[in-house]
Amino acid sequence: MSKPIVAIVGRPNVGKSTLFNKIGKKRVSIVEDMPGVTRDRIYMDGEWLGKEFTMIDTGGIEIETEDKILSQMRHQARLAMEEADVIVFVVDGKTGATNADEEVAHMLRGTRKPVVLAVNKVDHINQELAIYEFYNLGLGDPVGISAANAMGLGDLLDAVVASFPADAETEAVEEDVIKVAVIGRPNVGKSSLVNAMIGEDRVIVSDIPGTTRDAIDTHFTKDGQKFMLIDTAGMRRKAKIEMPVERYSVVRALRAVDRADVVLMVIDAEEGVTEQDKKIAGYAHEAGRACVIVVNKWDLVEKDSKTSLRYTEAIRSELAFLQYAPVVYLSALTKQRVPRVTELVKYVAEQHNMRVKTSVLNQVLEDAVAINPPPTGHGKRLRIYFATQADVQPPTFVFFVNEAELMHFSYLRFLENRLRESFGFEGTPLKLVVRNRKEKEDA
Ligand code: GDP
Ligand code: GDP
Repeated sequence: MSKPIVAIVGRPNVGKSTLFNKIGKKRVSIVEDMPGVTRDRIYMDGEWLGKEFTMIDTGGIEIETEDKILSQMRHQARLAMEEADVIVFVVDGKTGATNADEEVAHMLRGTRKPVVLAVNKVDHINQELAIYEFYNLGLGDPVGISAANAMGLGDLLDAVVASFPADAETEAVEEDVIKVAVIGRPNVGKSSLVNAMIGEDRVIVSDIPGTTRDAIDTHFTKDGQKFMLIDTAGMRRKAKIEMPVERYSVVRALRAVDRADVVLMVIDAEEGVTEQDKKIAGYAHEAGRACVIVVNKWDLVEKDSKTSLRYTEAIRSELAFLQYAPVVYLSALTKQRVPRVTELVKYVAEQHNMRVKTSVLNQVLEDAVAINPPPTGHGKRLRIYFATQADVQPPTFVFFVNEAELMHFSYLRFLENRLRESFGFEGTPLKLVVRNRKEKEDA
């Protein structure tokens, strides 16, 4: 089920990122220190009164346009209006409303989406007056906040949560269907790939409207396995209508990832990994989705015996957190290796869903600890009593220890590597959780 999406729009320097970081949930996760995941993120999960949501910083989304503030803001607002469930429009209480603010307000007044107007930098009680002029924007009651001082955020979040769509979308999909999100920049060849995949022999295709607005999902069966390609609206049209670049919606991609089991990350062989790819791949990783990296247009690359090796190295260093994702080099145009994609999707979906027996897991753990003793600190050594697999999709392991603070990131990496060496888990992220536990009598 996808969480509601809250888009934050506003001029540069009004305090969007500050707000974003204040509301965003600090994760305790082994991926935190991974290069590329944390820096410069455009999305973050938040929670208020038990309601979860995903925030998008539209300012962080690259938009290929002349670099004028106003046109940037228009693009942001349009994106938010199309894709978000709730829009938070941030203005600066210190500078007052500017022309750009008014322009965006004008656009936002035309949307059916709920808009919450946040007047930031209202740092002191006696500045409350500053918020009144923003009633002129015609967007209802402005909420005065100070993002930097975390003031007024409760009121803001009350307003945001109150505007969430009443019934969360529930996905009624059969258990044995593998849900796949095809992600990538415009023109990397997503449509061509989707068409090539479903164009294979012995395939039964049906279009079923997805649960998200305007989403069309493509269902097909291949060798007895059912697949669902998420939100292929626009990907399967024969003659695609010319779409302006800004129509490529990161938000739409993130929603597709939310609904997926497996993410097909499509990269253009000539272009390589882009910043946008990194952000979306980071999201998929953190969301615990399985992943296959597709390098498309391989027919255009002049190759020698080491070309794919060099490519893989480059991809591994750009997408450092996706070491586990298999890479496939193909051409959607010539259909070279296209059947391999379907096989890999099925394979990583199985890995994503794999359960390891507790006894076997603890044997591996015992061996790992024997090779490389756990770290020490404060004159104590970390002791790992026991591990168990608590969940699948992604496989989640809980380690019961004497003192969780003694666990190092690097040691978790070591344990993760041992798990992968022993069990595979190709294509899926793993979640490792460390829990304190009183020493057992016999321990
Ligand atoms: P963005 O460009 O909209 O993402 O804005 P930033 O979050 O980067 O903030 C721009 C500047 O405003 C920074 O110097 C922040 O420290 C400052 N700022 C953010 N929130 C507040 C606030 O509540 N009060 C004051 N006085 N300054 C703030
Ligand atoms: P999308 O925007 O990601 O859906 O990309 P399209 O599938 O529409 O492809 C964009 C352009 O790249 C089209 O002109 C395709 O014919 C071309 N293209 C797609 N896949 C390949 C490929 O494997 N090799 C070559 N040479 N061109 C491709």
